[in-house]
Amino acid sequence: MSTNSVPLYADDSHLIEFDAIVVKAGPKFVVLDRTAFYPDSGGQPTDIGFLKHMGGETRVLKVAKRGLEIFHYIDVNIPIGAAVHGVIDWSTRSWNMRRHSAEHLITGLIEALGEPPKVFSDLEKLEFQPSELTKEQISKVGLRFDEIVEEDVPVRVYYEERHKIDASSDPRKISFLQKIPLSVNRLRIVDIGSYASTFCFGTHVRSTSEIGYLTELRLDDAKKSKKIVHFLLKH
Ligand SMILES: [Zn+2]
Repeated sequence: MSTNSVPLYADDSHLIEFDAIVVKAGPKFVVLDRTAFYPDSGGQPTDIGFLKHMGGETRVLKVAKRGLEIFHYIDVNIPIGAAVHGVIDWSTRSWNMRRHSAEHLITGLIEALGEPPKVFSDLEKLEFQPSELTKEQISKVGLRFDEIVEEDVPVRVYYEERHKIDASSDPRKISFLQKIPLSVNRLRIVDIGSYASTFCFGTHVRSTSEIGYLTELRLDDAKKSKKIVHFLLKH
């Protein structure tokens, strides 16, 4: 039987502790009725942390989404019906969230230069292909990035019905929509001021000052007109 988990992280990416009930259990895993643990998905890695139960606590080593269920992989077995208190490891979440939000912003700034859609990205790397990005352009993107961090621009997260989204004039939106299963009717949009707008179900900072400044932004050439942008944030 499928047991939907309410994704508390979707409404509050700064929620660190929560109470929940175990609705599915197996050897060293539980599914909870609600969770603030972000599962490994969308280029953002799993949260870790711990679950408190019956006066003890067990580490949450990995979190994964299967359909509408969110599985927490733990050190022990906890039975169905048990009440647990979850605690997110904030330093891991915050570091992942800051880099993921930075990736949104860098993507927006590069796409504003007329670059074609990004073909791949993770927490410290973005790839564009075919691309004619230059080192001078990337250096300007780096300066602009730090200015936007200084400006403390708010990040806005909102939902739109899929059929109401007009992507006809935006190849980037078309390619994004094609990757999202047709069963998903309500799309989540993340805007960083007017600098970046993306469909995304991940966790994000509240405003750009939380991202922090860049310590590195580097452009590498790869085969077949691919350009790779590497970035690092101040830890
Ligand atoms: Zn995102």
